Amino acid sequence: MRFFSPSLFQAFILLIFLTAGCATTTQPGAVGVERKQFLLISAEQANQGAAAFYAKEKDKYAKAGALNKNPQQTARVRAIASRLIEQAGAFRPDTRNWQWEVNVINSKELNAYCAAGGKIAVYSGLIDTLHLTDAEIAAVMGHEIAHALREHTREAMSEALAQQVGLTVLATALKLGQNSASLLGDAATVGLTLPFSREKEREADRIGLELMARAGYDPHAALSVWRKMLSTGSGQPPEILSTHPAPESRLKDIEAHLPEVMPLYESAKRLGQ
Ligand SMILES: [Zn+2]
Repeated sequence: MRFFSPSLFQAFILLIFLTAGCATTTQPGAVGVERKQFLLISAEQANQGAAAFYAKEKDKYAKAGALNKNPQQTARVRAIASRLIEQAGAFRPDTRNWQWEVNVINSKELNAYCAAGGKIAVYSGLIDTLHLTDAEIAAVMGHEIAHALREHTREAMSEALAQQVGLTVLATALKLGQNSASLLGDAATVGLTLPFSREKEREADRIGLELMARAGYDPHAALSVWRKMLSTGSGQPPEILSTHPAPESRLKDIEAHLPEVMPLYESAKRLGQ
């Protein structure tokens, strides 16, 4: 008689995996983000995927003559980004060694992202169509940078993989089976294309709010920019909202955290940011 059936044994190994994978990627900051994260996939795996994706996107838009087409706009976006990046160390000191990149894509799309490891893209449509102020650009970029600091894509990939492994344990028990390379591929696709959960959005809002305040941008712009996005009357909702769900409850949450970050903004202003 055996104590473990093969499927039970796999489930046991999986449990060890899951327990070992719980950590938090950032320091809590004034906004107090402390949720333990489930990280099965390594940072290297997630960053390599993001870097490859970013290089391909850059190449595509460069060939179309749509990469950093407006030098003034690129300089403006990069200046705001560098002020935010300077403050990222408050959440993760290791970001000082990240290979940050900031590029503007000339496109009507209302979009922006920061891929894992600090690869930022801002679409000109977002700035031009919504007539964003510097502080509003800082709010969007701060939010996107926060997703990268929290490694939300890596976490989403890990969650997707765990679901797949869970299914595989079941599949093995049923004598089906699937190889691990295709599992990782599936997890990557799910992690990169699905909208972030509301919890992850709230974390990105909070950390983004603190980053912009520390960089000397009035955090109230985080409210005005999402309001602008929610009320664009151009028929199609902005692309950024398809991966960053923004219900009214998010705006309330941002409002609730303003008192925590306003002193940081005030002191950054005093220091002449
Ligand atoms: Zn988001």
